[in-house]
Formats: sequence, structure tokens, C-alpha cells
Amino acid sequence: MGYYDQHMHTHFSPDSAESFENYLEETDGILVTTEHLDFHDAYNGGVDTVLDYAAYSEKIDTLNAVHDGRIRRGIEVGYTPESHTQIESYLEGKAFDVILLSVHQNGLYDYLQPIIDEMDPKAVMKEYFELCTKAVRQVDGANVFAHFDYGIRRLPVTADDLREFEPELKELLKEILAKEMALELNTRSMYEYKNADLYRYMIGLYLEMGGTRFSLGSDAHSIKKYRYHFNDAIALLREFGVTGLTQFKDRIAYTEPI
Ligand SMILES: [Zn+2]
Ligand SMILES: [Zn+2]
Repeated sequence: MGYYDQHMHTHFSPDSAESFENYLEETDGILVTTEHLDFHDAYNGGVDTVLDYAAYSEKIDTLNAVHDGRIRRGIEVGYTPESHTQIESYLEGKAFDVILLSVHQNGLYDYLQPIIDEMDPKAVMKEYFELCTKAVRQVDGANVFAHFDYGIRRLPVTADDLREFEPELKELLKEILAKEMALELNTRSMYEYKNADLYRYMIGLYLEMGGTRFSLGSDAHSIKKYRYHFNDAIALLREFGVTGLTQFKDRIAYTEPI
């Protein structure tokens, strides 16, 4: 089994305390971590969450020397229109194997903050999906579009509600296809936030539009969620006739069979 978890965090992200060493004990195979980059991070009191690239790289180099080079470098870029230029200058000249692109916030609040509960779900959905489309359009060089449902994790959204936003979702998928990015199946979204039905709908839409690239990620912040419900997500992809997952080394895509 060559495919691995393509969305994980360690203590190099402010919301995780997990170590590389603990993840290494979970597998003999390849590992990648995708640490947070969120400028003006609403979830973190408005401060900039910036990955210490030098320390991160040094840690990986040290571990790779004794672990057969099993660790790859990754980052999860959180987009806001205001931070676009800061994101670009941060990424300049840094080597990552995979870059995830996410929308976590709208510049004022993170979509996982309680304020969302007081809002009109349809208005949140519209704003969120439009922001996602803008993110993919503006940011060049990202490989995976992460958790398309992050903005609606707190909301009681059904697949029928999502269907009302089919034009917006098609716009988003069109941009993802144009940038040759992979669509992430975020297994914590699917099985912890119980959005598997939303993913089922999105997978169908993406395939219908000619999409072929799927990335599987738990979004683990500790080893407890490493490869979270991967068997269920793989079974769902097989149901749709999908036969492989897209992974990235030096930001070059390749396919691992499932
Ligand atoms: Zn995220
Ligand atoms: Zn994440």
C-alpha cells in the first residue's frame, strides 16, 4: 500500500502538540506533514501563524538521515484575499513536496468559531464557496484543495442544501481542474463532522466535470486521528470507480493505486 495520509499536523502548527517521532512509529512508509500558514489568524487571536521553515526543515533533515528519507515537507496555506501577497512572498524559494490550499477564515472570523451559528447558513455557504474559488484562482502552485466543507462544518447542511449551490461549486471545481490540483477527501470532515454525504455529492460533481485527482487526508493533529477512517473513504471512492490517489513529491503529481 503506497498511498499515505496527505494532510497532518505536528507541533510545528500552533494547534497541534504531536511529534514526528510518534507519527514515525505508526508506519514504515512515507509520511508528510502539512503545517499551518495563516496570516492574521482569526482562530489564533489575530496573530500571524507562520511555519518556522528553517526549524521544520532541519528537524526533517535530521530525522530523514536515520529514517531512510521517509518524511516529506508540506504546508497548508490558509488563504484570505488580504494575505495573498504575504503568502506568495513566504512561499518564494522554499521547497515543499506538497502545498495544500485552504480557506479557514474571511479576514474577520474563522468558520469554526461560534459566531457562525448565528448566521444565515445560506449566506455563509455563498460567501465561503466564492472565497474558495477566489483562493484557487489567485494562488499559483498549490497542489491540493483541502476540506471544501470547512466553512460549513458547524452548519446543519444537507446534500440537498449543497445542490442549491451547484453553480458556485462548479465554478470552484472548474478552477481546481484548470490548476491541475487534487480534490481532498478530508476524513475528519467526513466522519467526525459527519459530512460524508456532502463529499459523496462533491465527488460525483467533480467526476462529471472530468476530475481525476483525489487526495486523502485525515487532518490529524495527533496520532489518534492518523489515517482516520481511511478504509471508509477508500470504499467510497471505489464505489465511484476511482482506482487511484494523487500524491506529490517535489510538487510533482503521481498516482498510487487503491
Ligand atoms: Zn485546514
Ligand atoms: Zn489541516
